[in-house]
Amino acid sequence: MRILIIGEGGRESALAAKLHKDVRVTKMFFANGNASTDAIGQNVHMSDIKELRDFAIKEKVDLTIVGPEAPLVAGLKDEFKKHNLKVFGPNQKVASLEGSKAFSKKFMQTYDIKTAKAVVFDSYNEAKQYVQNHDYPLVIKASGLAGGKGVVICDTLEEAEATIHDFMIRRIYGDAGIRLVIEEYLVGFEASIIAFSNGEKLFPCIPVKDYKKAGNGDKGPNTGGMGSVAPSPEFTAQHSADFEQNILAPTITGLKAEGFSFKGIIFFGLMVTKKGTYLLEYNMRFGDPETQVLMALMENNLLDVINDCMNGKDIELKFKDEKAVCLVMCSGGYPRNIELGFEIVGEDKVKHSQLLYAGAVRKGNKVVSNGGRVLNIVATGTTYDEARKKVYEDAVPVQFDYSFYREDIGKF
Ligand code: ATP
Repeated sequence: MRILIIGEGGRESALAAKLHKDVRVTKMFFANGNASTDAIGQNVHMSDIKELRDFAIKEKVDLTIVGPEAPLVAGLKDEFKKHNLKVFGPNQKVASLEGSKAFSKKFMQTYDIKTAKAVVFDSYNEAKQYVQNHDYPLVIKASGLAGGKGVVICDTLEEAEATIHDFMIRRIYGDAGIRLVIEEYLVGFEASIIAFSNGEKLFPCIPVKDYKKAGNGDKGPNTGGMGSVAPSPEFTAQHSADFEQNILAPTITGLKAEGFSFKGIIFFGLMVTKKGTYLLEYNMRFGDPETQVLMALMENNLLDVINDCMNGKDIELKFKDEKAVCLVMCSGGYPRNIELGFEIVGEDKVKHSQLLYAGAVRKGNKVVSNGGRVLNIVATGTTYDEARKKVYEDAVPVQFDYSFYREDIGKF
């Protein structure tokens, strides 16, 4: 089987490492890939959908797995389908559940999916008017994709007005911000649940805790994710029951009612409050760095799981009764200004963990940093502490200039 994986992060490295073990996988291509993926397959450099389609036809690709959201939102599945190319992921319409926060909020409201109260605005004046008489904090979201930067938690009216101006008038995120979702602020802890879809039913994985803030103790700016832990120790059986009843079940109903059947991944970004579990967002693809810990614990053969979903069969997901911790090592300055191109050393000294490159590429016989999140160190153990110790011990010898990571991933 010939597989094309689109993306270049630690998520794609984790998926690739799992699939690589399968003897049925004869060749893997990665667009654009990284220093892990080029060790087990072929990195190709392209991002245009038509170029990817032509490549998949020419190389007789049997299955394409899409890591990031942008190609799905741009209609990759629709274009591939015209040529009978199989893609594990939704079409453009269904990907709008991630690509448009206004669209997904309407879906959640229509199908009684527990979510924060929100109003959608297309008019600058109406949005400005709305925030005048409101309790703060208030959450203002650009409806379109803004690379994870389009959500602002505003503590004051002045901040809210400035944000609306930035999004709608200055258009700092282009068209992504011309429509806004303004919603109530929820207090609680976050959890991520990734579910596989076979076109009919959704099969959730164990809950994951993702560390979004750059600094220890959840301080500093938001990032793409500084680490992850599975299963989330905070998300209890009671939270799971609440999620299944008030979010998962009505989502399945909504998908059916709208004709949004798809084979792929749906990711639930949750906020657990004193009043229960709320859905913040859907992502229509694997999460990063959630995937890294899920793959470390998943007992199923990933190719079987994907094939069964593609064929509309039911699956039974099984995870080791262990804990997994993923530490993300970053470039100095991340998530703001970063410098790239520093040589990474010490990977051969990693003893108890899996090292997955993310923003790192091979240059001659060296591996150099090439992104904000450079590499992941992943380990499992019978306790969080055991997994955590392995990860932090293995992180010490892995070095590149100005690198940093959080010290408190998996510390409870
Ligand atoms: P991501 O970068 O994870 O894809 P996103 O930009 O698509 O995120 P959301 O997930 O909706 O947007 O929001 C980003 C973050 O903002 C959330 O992870 C959460 O920390 C915070 N957030 C969003 N909505 C709320 C809310 N209603 N109350 C409190 N915090 C919120």
